[in-house]
Amino acid sequence: MEAFEYTANPSRVVFGNGTIAKLPDILSELKLSRPLLLSTPQQIGQADGVKSLLRGEVAGVFSEATMHTPLEVTERAVEFARSSNADSVVSIGGGSTIGLGKAISVRTGLHHIAIPTTYAGSEVTPILGETSGGLKTTRSDPKILPGTVIYDVDLTLTLPVGLSATSGVNAIAHAVEALYAKNANPIINMFAQEGVKSLAASLPEIIKEPNSPAARSTALYGAWLCGICLGNVGMSLHHKLCHTLGGSFGLPHAETHTIVLPHALSYNAPEVPRAMEKLAEVLPGSNGDAVTGLNALLDKLNVKRGLRDFGMKESDIDKAADIAVSKPYWNPRGVEREAVRELIRRAWAGEPARADL
Ligand code: NAD
Repeated sequence: MEAFEYTANPSRVVFGNGTIAKLPDILSELKLSRPLLLSTPQQIGQADGVKSLLRGEVAGVFSEATMHTPLEVTERAVEFARSSNADSVVSIGGGSTIGLGKAISVRTGLHHIAIPTTYAGSEVTPILGETSGGLKTTRSDPKILPGTVIYDVDLTLTLPVGLSATSGVNAIAHAVEALYAKNANPIINMFAQEGVKSLAASLPEIIKEPNSPAARSTALYGAWLCGICLGNVGMSLHHKLCHTLGGSFGLPHAETHTIVLPHALSYNAPEVPRAMEKLAEVLPGSNGDAVTGLNALLDKLNVKRGLRDFGMKESDIDKAADIAVSKPYWNPRGVEREAVRELIRRAWAGEPARADL
């Protein structure tokens, strides 16, 4: 075995059904009594449910979390946290709400309890992406990692089927890029393979039966494992493309990941044969080819395959290619402007992925 380094990210993780009921005890163990509750406008009902669980003993509810963590929203939320004397933040929602919790926590030092309701994985990463002036910048700092994570499978039952599918593929994308990361290691490879296996088995079940407790539980478990991959090793071209498309063109996060993943994987495939084998091992219907397996999964999930379906303009392809190749993340294959442009064009048009760009 080759030498490797592995650093575990320290956080307390509570997993199960109905686990949100443990929140009052978790807060009192941490000697915290005035959490600021965070949600999106769409999930204010779930935030109010947490407020009731805590018998109203909260600093307040801030329900303006927005995708890609715009700076102006963070500034308002930090002001609210300070003026309401919050001693902690509790984020209940997907990556957008957890991102806001991280942005507040890193600026104020408040303990962050994350209660994820999608499969995005942000809750177990020390990474924060923030958007200002139409550009998304990402930084990593151990202080960004939420201290406590409560996975409550019951809270994911309301996640719409379409978003369950794309959010699950967003999680798979973390594992895919972990398998060929520059700092890949055998521990993270285990998480990646088990994460992809869990999601590839459960997501098609969720499409058929959205309330299946077993499928929802397996999917959330897989999402956690894939999130650990994202939080531990470097991501490459796929994540750079999705950050560019989301941050600069307002494209929806999970859906963009779903469309771009087969293209980014095909682009890198010739340079990462061992990672492709590992991925093919855990994707049903792959017949030894990971891209075939990924496409088979996406077909079962009935997801949209073109960025133009989400409003991206054809005239934005060149701008996206320019941003994506500027300050590129490390990638196993060289990041070539014309090949990346063609990758984006194919993803925009919803055409099949090609390795020979
Ligand atoms: P999201 O948090 O924006 O949620 C999408 C929509 O679904 C929102 O309206 C939300 O309120 C709703 N929703 C979420 N869970 C629900 C549920 N259980 N029931 C009903 N509605 C629900 O989407 P996301 O894909 O989870 O997160 C995307 C954001 O997270 C992006 O800004 C992305 O950059 C960030 N992200 C960051 C990391 C990281 O490590 N820093 C990782 C993944 C994603």
